[in-house]
Amino acid sequence: MKQKHSKRTLAVQAGTQEDKLYGGRVSPVFTSSAYDYEQEVRYPRYFNTPNQAAVARKMAALENAEDGLVFSTGMAAIMTSLLSLVKEGDHVVFQEDLYGGTYHSILNEFPRLGIAFSLVDYADPKNFEKAITKKTKAIYIETPSNPLLKITDIAAVAKIARKHKLVSLIDNTFASPVNQNPIDMGIDVVLHSGTKYVGGHSDLMCGIALSTKKVIERIKSSGMHFGGSLDSQTCALVERSLKTIVLRVQQQNENAMSIASFLEKESRINNVYYPGLKKHPNHAVARKQMTGGFGGMVSFEVKGDVDKFLGKLKLIHRAVSLGGVESTICSSVRTSHAKLTPAERKKAGISDKLLRFSVGIEDADDLIADIRQAL
Ligand SMILES: *Cc1c(COP(=O)(O)O)cnc(C)c1O
Repeated sequence: MKQKHSKRTLAVQAGTQEDKLYGGRVSPVFTSSAYDYEQEVRYPRYFNTPNQAAVARKMAALENAEDGLVFSTGMAAIMTSLLSLVKEGDHVVFQEDLYGGTYHSILNEFPRLGIAFSLVDYADPKNFEKAITKKTKAIYIETPSNPLLKITDIAAVAKIARKHKLVSLIDNTFASPVNQNPIDMGIDVVLHSGTKYVGGHSDLMCGIALSTKKVIERIKSSGMHFGGSLDSQTCALVERSLKTIVLRVQQQNENAMSIASFLEKESRINNVYYPGLKKHPNHAVARKQMTGGFGGMVSFEVKGDVDKFLGKLKLIHRAVSLGGVESTICSSVRTSHAKLTPAERKKAGISDKLLRFSVGIEDADDLIADIRQAL
């Protein structure tokens, strides 16, 4: 079903596990953890049960990947992929603006495993090339970034990785497979926290890795050791959620654009961070690579009291996480960046007034009215 069909068709139909017994139109849920081993040794931790495979096929179709693996969380997908591709003595180049969980994982786990790394400024792709040493094995990026929605030039970084024969990885969570397909731009491994837009209803956890069959085999062999696979019942929920991902994300793109445009003109708001705005510093790169839209995440700073503003919102609820059909908002210094010192936050450009808004699929006018009354 590759390429020939549009994403909306693939989201609904690709990967479905045929119900050979009754002809039902959706994948049956196979809850077994014990399978007859005559044909293949199936076991949920081995990533090879029918519901795991169905999700992996659908995601692979949406990301133009050969193959995929479904994990229990985004971090399981990220760390299993990284640790399966690098070893003691290797070096990895990361972009500086990383999801907090990824940043703390490499900071805390890599040194004692003997894996070296550099963190580089995303703004100029040449910075990634400059950081490469004889020991470098991989380059890892994340775009749009959290929470300032910075845009890294995916094709430029992929080209550098190819030139130096390095594996390139991207965290594509914020864009979702609807807005951006990094494999088409030369990236080797695409990672998602399925807890966000893939699940899309703030009610499950999951992670996904997508790549060539060969690389997925490599990740899978480590993944069977690390044990981060996903159970069948959650896989069935993920598969159902994916059928509407295009509709959901398109609405979120549209709502976020309207809200960012409103905030940009609002005098009681300071900075608005949204890659779809013309004045975003990387708007041109975003236009080039975010072919489906600019995403549902908007960050901004209020001029007045942040807590008062949040307390007055009625439709938009204060919560961590993102990507759900319901609008949620959070203060970065109180959540994802709470562990940083004031000096570190200042360096990262995260002010006390910064809010990260995960725009849902509600009516954009209702959401704007809610912000306006709270201001
Ligand atoms: C949430 C998130 C993760 C981690 O995913 P979990 O499902 O919480 O493990 C990784 N990257 C990004 C960009 C995220 O937003």
